[in-house]
Amino acid sequence: MKFVSALILGAFASTASAFAPATPLNVAPTTRHYSSASQLQMVADDAKVCLVTGASRGLGASIALELGKAGQKVVVNYAGSEDKANEVVEAIKAAGGDAIAIQANCSDQDSIKAMFKTVIDEYGSCDVLVNNAGITADGLLMRMKPKQWQDVIDINLTCVFYTTQEFFKLASKKKLKEGAGRIINISSVVGQMGNEGQANYAAAKGGVIGLTMSNAREFPSRGVTVNCVCPGYIQTDMTDSLPDAVKDAVISKIPLKRMGKPEEVGGMVKFLAIDPAAAYITGHCFNVDGGMAIGA
Ligand code: NAP
Repeated sequence: MKFVSALILGAFASTASAFAPATPLNVAPTTRHYSSASQLQMVADDAKVCLVTGASRGLGASIALELGKAGQKVVVNYAGSEDKANEVVEAIKAAGGDAIAIQANCSDQDSIKAMFKTVIDEYGSCDVLVNNAGITADGLLMRMKPKQWQDVIDINLTCVFYTTQEFFKLASKKKLKEGAGRIINISSVVGQMGNEGQANYAAAKGGVIGLTMSNAREFPSRGVTVNCVCPGYIQTDMTDSLPDAVKDAVISKIPLKRMGKPEEVGGMVKFLAIDPAAAYITGHCFNVDGGMAIGA
């Protein structure tokens, strides 16, 4: 129980399967689903094209919907959950935005390249990149298998390297709307605090924070900003399935004494992604954690 509790204090479930894609990762690079022209009338004239990785479920789905509700064009990336990705696309259209779903394995560079090509073919630009896709594969370091380490590093960290490189290439080719370029990386409080049983995940999420600061310094010339959001313990299907006693133990250590809601993470990402007031913010981390990371 001590181990499980420690993992949960890291703000997410403790099983790899809870985060694992529904199908093997080596799937075909892209699958597209198009909206019809009649559904575009509520999309803003100056709508930005926002690519959200891992947007079929959980926080990614909520982030995609928040952007869609704001009248943006959203690319819903997924690994294996095609039906869920299509549901997110439909919810975005119903809310007044536009969306397409694209299947791509974020830990595979060719798959990422193919996804970006599809985005440009369909929408002509890619202005906002939200790196949200993530998995866990927990275990104490002494027993951690190399694959457990590598899978978590590949999907949580290397994925961000691949997508950011493609995004910067587009910025170089002036494929972003002038001044619109924003990258938001989803890290975790665990990347700031560490967590027993999550050395791989903490290393990956800490790496995302370092990558964010470096990238903010590397590509300011065309107004591209790069920021990071660190969620704490957020209410999802996964955390809903935890025993009440474990939830209570975590919540007792959160200053605001409750779990976060996915839309609270979505709201912060939306601000950083499209709000004009965020144009002068770059290289920083924003916690949405009810005060969790300031400690008990
Ligand atoms: P989730 O519900 O398990 O969803 C994970 C998403 O990532 C799914 O859309 C999944 O797609 C996608 N994904 C997984 N592997 C992928 C791959 N190789 N390529 C492309 N997409 C892939 O997770 P979540 O709770 O929403 O977490 C989202 C992000 O927030 C993660 O980076 C996580 O580390 C971070 N975070 C979450 C919490 C929390 O309390 N929930 C706290 C801190 C940080 P499929 O559905 O197609 O498999």
